[in-house]
Amino acid sequence: MPKKPAVSAEHAETSVKLSPRGVARLQGRHPWVYRSDVAEANEVPPGQLVRVLDQRGKFLGTALYSSSSQIAIRMISHGSVADLPALVAERIRAAIAYRKEVVSNTDAYRIVFSEGDFLPGLIVDRYNDVLCLQILTQAMDSAPVRAAVLQTLREELQPAGIVERVDARIRELEQLPPIPSRLLWGEKSSTVFNLNGGVRFEYDGLEGQKTGAFLDQRENYAAAAQYAHGEALDAFCYQGGFALHFAVQSAVHSALHPAGKTSSVTGVDSSRPALEMAEKNAALNGRELEWIEANAFDLLREYAAAGRRYDTIVLDPPAFAKTKRDLEKALGGYKELNLRAMKMLRPGGILVTCSCSYHVSTSDFFEVVADAARDAHKSFRVIENRGAAKDHPMLLDVPETSYLKCLILSVSD
Ligand code: SAH
Repeated sequence: MPKKPAVSAEHAETSVKLSPRGVARLQGRHPWVYRSDVAEANEVPPGQLVRVLDQRGKFLGTALYSSSSQIAIRMISHGSVADLPALVAERIRAAIAYRKEVVSNTDAYRIVFSEGDFLPGLIVDRYNDVLCLQILTQAMDSAPVRAAVLQTLREELQPAGIVERVDARIRELEQLPPIPSRLLWGEKSSTVFNLNGGVRFEYDGLEGQKTGAFLDQRENYAAAAQYAHGEALDAFCYQGGFALHFAVQSAVHSALHPAGKTSSVTGVDSSRPALEMAEKNAALNGRELEWIEANAFDLLREYAAAGRRYDTIVLDPPAFAKTKRDLEKALGGYKELNLRAMKMLRPGGILVTCSCSYHVSTSDFFEVVADAARDAHKSFRVIENRGAAKDHPMLLDVPETSYLKCLILSVSD
C-alpha cells in the first residue's frame, strides 16, 4: 500500500488500539482487522478515518472504521492520511492508469476493485459510456468521498451516465440508510458494450445481477473460445458470456481442433430475465443460439441419463460456498456437476469449469474436479489454469482478492 505523507491539520485525529493479534494481522500486510482484535475504540463515529496504534501507542497506519461490520478496520495507508477524498481521487486515477496497461480490445471492465485497488468498499465498472458504482463501506458512503468519486470519474472518463447499484444487504450490515439503485449523474443508464474485440452485449445499469455482467470472466471467455468446438453447452450461462464468445469467436484454426468452430451452442440458466438478455445479445451479434430455462443440475442429470454428448461444456455456477460452513456441501455440488459434464464429453472434448467461491481454494477445486474425473473414468489434461481478468487485481497478501477459478481441460482418452 503506497505511503502518504502527513500534511494537513485535517488528518485523522481519532485513534484505535489493536490487540497483539490485530497487530499481527497488519504485520502480515492484510488490510482487515476484525472487531474482536480491536482493543480500544472509544466512540469512534461510523466511517471515520482513524489512526491505528498498537497497545503501546505506536502508530501503524490509517484505516477506515466501520461501527457495525465485523471487519472494524480496513487499512487505507501505512502512513498518515491528510485528506481522504483527495487520496480516493488519486487512487482512482492510479486504478484507471493500471487498466490502460492491462485491458485491450474491450470497452467494459472493472475500473476500481475495492481492496485490490486500495479503496476498500468501492467498486466501479465501466460499460462503454456508462459507469456503474457500488459503495460497500460506511467511509466510502460519506458525502465528501462520494463527491470525489463522481468528480474524478467524470474528469477522467467523460461518461454519458453514472449509475449506482445498491446491495441492500450490505447497506443493512453497514447500518447505512436504504437507498434505491439509480442514475447518479448524466442521462444514460443503458448502452451496448464490446468484449474481446467485438463480442457485443446489451447493458442495462438498473437490471440484472452483480453490476450487470460478470466482467471477471472476460479473459476466460476469449481463452475458452480458442478451444471450443463442435456442439457446445454453456451451463449457468447468465446473459451468454461464454456462449456468445463461442458462437462468434470459436477458433477456426485451433491447434487442438483443426476443424475448429462450434457447430451449435446451447445456453442454460434458471433465470428467465438473464436468458431474455442473452437472446437480445445473440441478435446483436447476428447469431442464433438455443437458450434453455432450467435448473442446470436437473438438466445435466437428464441429458446424461439420455446419453446426450457434447464436445465443449462450460460450468460456471453461482458461489455454492458463501461461508466456510457451506464448504462440504459446496464441494459436493461441484463434484456432481463436473461428473455429469465429464460423462457427457466426447473424446477430445473440452471442459471449462469454474468456481467463484472464495471459500473453495484452488487446491480444493483441483481436488474435487480430479475426484469427478476419476469417477467418470476419464483422464483430463489441464490446458489452462486461470483466474479473474487482470482488471480484477489480486493482492498477494489478501487471499480474499483471489476467488475465481477457471480450469480449461481436455479429455485425453
Ligand atoms: N457464466 C456467466 C455467469 C454465471 S453466474 C457469465 O459469464 O456471464 C451464475 C448463473 O447461474 C446466474 O445467471 C444464475 O441465474 C444461474 N443459476 C443459479 N442457480 C442455477 C441453477 N440451479 N440452474 C441454472 N442456473 C442457475
